[in-house]
Amino acid sequence: MPGSFRIGKLLGIPLQLNISWFIIFALVTFSLVAGQFPAQYPFWSRETYLIAGLATSLLFFGSVVIHELSHSIVARYIGLPVKSITLFIFGGVAQISRDASRPAGELVMAAAGPFSSFVLAGVFTIVWAIARPIHEPTTALAGWLALINFSLGAFNLLPGFPMDGGRILRSLIWWATGSQGTATKIAVSIGHVIAYLMLLGGILLVVFNPHLLFSGIWLMFIGWFLNQAATGSAHHARIRDALHGYSAGDLMSTNFQSVPEDLTIEELLRQRIAAGPRSWFLVVQGPFLRGLLNLRDVRKVPRRRWSDTQIASVMQPIQKLGAVSPQVEALEVLEEMDEKEVQELPVVEQGTLVGVVTRASLLRAAQLRHEFGF
Ligand SMILES: [Zn+2]
Repeated sequence: MPGSFRIGKLLGIPLQLNISWFIIFALVTFSLVAGQFPAQYPFWSRETYLIAGLATSLLFFGSVVIHELSHSIVARYIGLPVKSITLFIFGGVAQISRDASRPAGELVMAAAGPFSSFVLAGVFTIVWAIARPIHEPTTALAGWLALINFSLGAFNLLPGFPMDGGRILRSLIWWATGSQGTATKIAVSIGHVIAYLMLLGGILLVVFNPHLLFSGIWLMFIGWFLNQAATGSAHHARIRDALHGYSAGDLMSTNFQSVPEDLTIEELLRQRIAAGPRSWFLVVQGPFLRGLLNLRDVRKVPRRRWSDTQIASVMQPIQKLGAVSPQVEALEVLEEMDEKEVQELPVVEQGTLVGVVTRASLLRAAQLRHEFGF
C-alpha cells in the first residue's frame, strides 16, 4: 500500500502504518474525548477525558492488530507467507500473498479474525464488570472496547467477499462444489450486492437523518471501498482461472539478451535499447548469471547518476530471485513474483538456464485465454 511505513515487527511480521490511518485515529480519539465520554460521564476532569479517550483509541487499534494477527498466524500455520500487517483508514489488512490451497484452510484462516474480536469483546466485558464498582474511566474504556470489538467481529462476518464472512462463504461453496473458481464468482457477486446496500444505506442515512450525516458518509465510503475490493478480487480470480493448466515452461521466453554486470546504466540504454525494444536483460559475469535487470529498476536511479551507476547495483540479484523449474505451475510462478516483488524469474532445468518467465507474458497469456475462452 503506497504511503505506508514500518513501525515494528510482531511475531516476525512487519507492522505498518498507512498515513490514512492517522485520520481515523484522530476521528476515533476526538469522538471519544469530546463526544462519547463527556455525554456518558459529565463530571470527569478534562485530563481524564483526554487520557481515557487516547487509551481507548490506542487499545482499539491494538484490537484491530490482534484481529489481523489471528488471520496471519493461521496463514503461516498452513504455509502461506504473510508479508505485513497494515493499519489504514478502513481498519487493518494482513497481506497474505497466496490463497489457501484447500477450503478448510481458508475457512479457519477467515474465521480466526472475527473469532479473536469476539474473544476480545469477552475479555473487555469481564474488565468492565470488575471495574464498574471501582473505577469509572476504566469502566468506560472497557465498555466501549467490548462493544466495538463485538461490532467489528459481527461486521466482518457479513458474507461479502473479500470480507471475512465472504471468505468463509467462499470456502463453504468451494468445499461443496469442489471449484474454487465458482465459489469465488458467487462470493464476489454477493460482495458487490453488500457493497451497494451499504452505499444505499449511507445515502438513506444522509437524506433522512441529518444527525447521522457523518455515519452515512462513512458507510458510503466503506461501501465504495468494498466494491473496489470485490472487483479487484474478481480480476485476480480470472487470472488465476486463466492460468490454470499452464506451466512455467509453456510461457517462458527463450529469446533473451545478456549484458555484462559492469555496464553502466547509460551504456545499457545507449547500446542495447537502441538495438531493439526490450524491458529486461540477463545480467552476467562471464558465463555466470548474476541477476535480471528490468528497466523499471533503472527508473529508481536519478538521471544524473546513470553514467556512474553499474547495472549490477540496480538489478535483482540471482540470490533474491532464485529459480523455478519448467514444470512449476504458472499460477505458482505469479505468486512467487508477488512475494518477491519482481517482474521476472529465471527458469532452470538441471542447473542450466532454459528461459525466463515474465509477469507480462503470464498476464498476456491469461488475458488471451480469457478473451478467446480456450
Ligand atoms: Zn478479518
